[in-house]
Amino acid sequence: MTGAGASIQTITGVRITGPGSEFLVDDEPADIFIDDGVISDIAPTRALPARGEVLDGQGAWALPGLWDNHVHTVQWALATERVALGGAASAAEAASIMSAAAPLPDGRKVGSGFRDALWPDRPTLALLDGATGPVPTYLINADVHSTWLNSAALRLEGFDSADGMLREQDAFEISRRLNAVDPARGDAAVMAAGERAASRGITGLVDFDMAWNADAWPRRIAAGFAAHRVEFAIYPFDLQRAISQGLRTGELREGGDAPEAGRGLIRVGPLKIISDGSLGTRTAACSHSYPGDPQNFGVLTVPPAELSELLTIATGSGLAVAVHAIGDRAVTGALDAFTVSGAVGTIEHAQLVRHSDLARFGRLGVIASVQPQHALDDRDLVGRHWAGQTSIGYPLGALRDAGVELRFGSDAPVAPLDPWQAIAAAVTRTDDDREPWHPEERMTRAQALQASVRTALRPGEPADIALCGFDPLGASGADLRAMPVTATMVAGRLSFGG
Ligand SMILES: [Zn+2]
Repeated sequence: MTGAGASIQTITGVRITGPGSEFLVDDEPADIFIDDGVISDIAPTRALPARGEVLDGQGAWALPGLWDNHVHTVQWALATERVALGGAASAAEAASIMSAAAPLPDGRKVGSGFRDALWPDRPTLALLDGATGPVPTYLINADVHSTWLNSAALRLEGFDSADGMLREQDAFEISRRLNAVDPARGDAAVMAAGERAASRGITGLVDFDMAWNADAWPRRIAAGFAAHRVEFAIYPFDLQRAISQGLRTGELREGGDAPEAGRGLIRVGPLKIISDGSLGTRTAACSHSYPGDPQNFGVLTVPPAELSELLTIATGSGLAVAVHAIGDRAVTGALDAFTVSGAVGTIEHAQLVRHSDLARFGRLGVIASVQPQHALDDRDLVGRHWAGQTSIGYPLGALRDAGVELRFGSDAPVAPLDPWQAIAAAVTRTDDDREPWHPEERMTRAQALQASVRTALRPGEPADIALCGFDPLGASGADLRAMPVTATMVAGRLSFGG
């Protein structure tokens, strides 16, 4: 009997699909052999004797382990203890949900996931104070770029706001404070979230937690974390600290004597720079103004000269970069900064892209790190707030056709950490009974899978493998969304199922 933590040496009777399957001569059931965490052979089933710890694949479909390329790990992990506001259809409803909610053990009330850009009424301080009184109460926008606080919370945090709304830097500061829980509590939540991710076939993620992650992850590994690989981001406020410690993108960051230490799970990721706002907070930097707000073209939160300088310093220090750019002006500015600095890395989100910028991604080798589910979650927001924009909204097919490498993510907690949701969204461009939204931007199943993995199933590759109930290359949108995952392993070690 195998179980979580077992080191598998033979997986019997699976069907190989996705990247790597093109190297096989037929699609008959196969056995996968693993040595030292690496795939050593793939052979027709029972052609070679099984050895070591054996996992009976029971005819499941085997594919490379999935990656989520954009996660706010602690924020996502703590979302389970916060009040879900995704269903609130108005400011009044959100306030009343918080009124009925129980406070956290620390005496505060925290809700997350509201979308005020679709509300008929405005959030006000009086409304929230009336519903929550003296209990410090915090509501975090689904896009994390704004927060709505009551008077008690504003006083506690030392902020001032006429309507209780804080945006961009101030909102990030509030999130940072709310996420800075006692490490034991935070690490326990991250451990549980990692197990949930593994149950969806995840074997790696890029962590954009807005904190000094370089010590947090080795601490979690020392405490037994082993659910998936992590590339952790560094923020500009820690850039000098990272440089002085010699952190370089791609290098291993582990330590300690714990059994899981030294297995190669934790690596230094990119320098993350947030260069504009968001659509939901109406701060994404765009070519055209927001309706009803003719002076508002969104904000470039980092001036162009400073952005180029940050990218230049990062590049000279051996760090890749991940530039958050949502509006088309921000995407152009990010590409300009990549051009002058020679930086390597990603543009995160790229939700509104000028036609003339598509080819620039490809020429510069900049990876588009996109969240396909956002296109569906934001469909109505776009209709209301971006209807007058002339650039391409939520491009996938357009970027692909321009030869751009795409990587998928969830931006959890903005969308749930579930790679199958992203794959289904990219393939179908709908998640309700409406027609596909901009069907020309759909990707094929094979392309969507390619954007969700880092490896292939072939000898010499890491044994990061997910076993699934359906062949994703043939599954319907609904089956992709609900994909049954029976087992997941990282470097041959079972992280889920068995
Ligand atoms: Zn994010």
